[in-house]
Amino acid sequence: MADIPPSHPRFASLRRRERLIDGFRAGLATEAGLLAHGRGEALDYLLGEQTHSFADEAIRTASAMLVCARYPVFSVNGNSASAAGPEIIQVLAAHGDMAAEVNLFHHSPERSRRIHDYLRGIGASHVFESVSAESQELPEIQHARRFMNQEGIARADVVLVALEDGDRCQALVRSGRTVIAIDLNPLSRTAKIAQVAIVDEISRALPLLAQYLREERTRPRQELEQRIASYDNNEVLRSAERVIRGSV
Ligand code: ATP
Repeated sequence: MADIPPSHPRFASLRRRERLIDGFRAGLATEAGLLAHGRGEALDYLLGEQTHSFADEAIRTASAMLVCARYPVFSVNGNSASAAGPEIIQVLAAHGDMAAEVNLFHHSPERSRRIHDYLRGIGASHVFESVSAESQELPEIQHARRFMNQEGIARADVVLVALEDGDRCQALVRSGRTVIAIDLNPLSRTAKIAQVAIVDEISRALPLLAQYLREERTRPRQELEQRIASYDNNEVLRSAERVIRGSV
């Protein structure tokens, strides 16, 4: 990682960029992933690189959904593993019963295995790969993202996706699953289709999600269900867009 002094005004953002570059060099992320990260950086710049109240509300609702879920799975790709590997582990540990599944747009068995091994190496205990000998398929999508591990997403009722494309998000929702998305773009199809869209930078949002999970694991179900019922994703996206457009 480059030697960036903490006094640098863009310290946090540059460190995140270095994580992506390291992930690319380690064979976790792809060239296309670096470009997708750039789009995220631009949007985060416009958001002032901070977690806004609309994101906090989405994170709290996501926490309630994950606590109430029968079997939640975190869908991890090369960018999310590179940008937020340790923070993904924090969320898995805070929940306790949540698995991770590696699912890649530019799939290769080697890269999938590398991300699997990386997550295991930093502390994840249940990690699956979408493409395996006994995968099931999500209807409606053609590429390798359609595969679901039968012990992972195929069994899941709630799927947390990050930095995801709209097609797969839509297919997951159509399959009857609840989708929570982390995506800095409130205009993306993913953010609009997911039941909960967390418009925030992934490595900033996940520690907060882990904190809420730890606090709420023992809360009465009814309270969590009420919070889920009163959540309005469209309003959250409108609030995010207003901040990005500079109209608040
Ligand atoms: P869609 O298909 O949903 O309309 P898209 O074509 O923008 O979206 P991708 O480029 O595959 O889909 O998705 C990457 C998304 O992840 C982008 O919206 C980008 O803003 C977002 N993103 C990139 N880096 C980060 C990050 N570090 N934290 C959160 N979101 C990020």
